[in-house]
This record gives sequence, structure tokens and C-alpha cells, in this order.
Amino acid sequence: MKNILLLLSLMIISGCGDDYGDSNILFVFDSVYVNYYHQNDKVEVTTTLNDFKARGIGDCSWIDYKCDYPYVNVSVSENKSTEDRKCFIEVYNDRHNLRDTFIVYQYGLPAPFDGGNGGGNGVGGGSGTNVTSRRCAAKTKKGTRCKRTAAKGSIYCWQHKK
Ligand SMILES: [Zn+2]
Repeated sequence: MKNILLLLSLMIISGCGDDYGDSNILFVFDSVYVNYYHQNDKVEVTTTLNDFKARGIGDCSWIDYKCDYPYVNVSVSENKSTEDRKCFIEVYNDRHNLRDTFIVYQYGLPAPFDGGNGGGNGVGGGSGTNVTSRRCAAKTKKGTRCKRTAAKGSIYCWQHKK
């Protein structure tokens, strides 16, 4: 028993003993929120290093990512499902043992509008029954997600609508 404890403490000491005073940083503030169609975006990496790599965690087959210092360019293919999907991208530099992750979050196809066929009385735009309200996909200056509800037929609120 004593031996095991000794061994454990030795492992802990040697595991943390690598103090070479690396003051470099590498982190990513933002995650990416994109609409269901194919599009490109980029995420800035805040770092003191000259290079880093990126890798997807989980099923990221629908997204293409390339490092373009100091950005990670992200290209998202069309989401053909109505399900939202997301992928974690890890930005890392193994030599300095620094890493951070961001999320690429893509909305699913909008729920199909209830067809124009039966609508007899011409109450304009009355197909709102099944439309779920989504949160605005825009980012605020602080880098957090906008808290308003997205306008109908858009992923943005009235203010962020382009
Ligand atoms: Zn907004």
C-alpha cells in the first residue's frame, strides 16, 4: 500500500514538473453560428504563437476547416436535415501544449411552410402556426450570442437582419 502511494505521488510530481515558463497563449473567443446552407466563415485565434493546427472532434464531415493564421477558415456544407448540428473544432499547438475549442453550430432546414393550397380567405402570411421561434444567430460585440428572437424567415433578429 505504501509503495503504491509513493508511486502515485512520484507520478504526480513528474507529471507536473515540466515548468519551462511558457507564457504563450492560444485561445478562441467565438463560436460560429451558421444558417443551413453552404457558407464560409472564419474564427480568429488569439495567440502569441506563429502557428497552430485545427482538428474536428466528433462528426465533422460536413465542415471543412483550414488554418489561415491567425484565423481558422470554416466552410460548411448544406444541412439537408431539419436537425441543427454542431461540431467542436480544437485549435492546438502540441509543441507548446496549448489548445482551445470552438463550436460550429449550423441550423437545420427551416420547417416547411404549410403549403399555400387551402388558404382560401387570403389572410396574408397566416402560415405561422408551426414556425418555431429561434434565437438570433448574430454575435454581439462582446462575442456572446444575441438574445433576441430571430425574425420570421430569418436566423437574425430585426436588428441584425441584413
Ligand atoms: Zn440579433
